[in-house]
Amino acid sequence: MVRRKTQTRKRRRPLRKKVCKFCADKVDRIDFKDVYRLRNYITERGKILPGRISGNCSKHQRQLSTAVKRARQVALLPFKAE
Ligand SMILES: [Zn+2]
Repeated sequence: MVRRKTQTRKRRRPLRKKVCKFCADKVDRIDFKDVYRLRNYITERGKILPGRISGNCSKHQRQLSTAVKRARQVALLPFKAE
C-alpha cells in the first residue's frame, strides 16, 4: 500500500516506546511449557498476537510463535477457542 503525504490523519496510538518483555527479562529461549507467559501473547480466541501489538522484537516474536505452536501440539494452549 502506498502511503501518501497527504494522509496525515492523527493516529490515536500513543507514542510510547514498546519494549520487548523477553529482552527485558533477558530470556534466551522461550519455553513452550511456560504457559502463563505465553497466555499473555495470545488472544482470547487463541491466536498469536502480532509483534507490532505485543511489542516484541522480531527475534523473540519468532521464538514466541514457535513456542505457542509447540504448546498447542502438547495441548497446553488451544488451537482455537470455542
Ligand atoms: Zn526480544
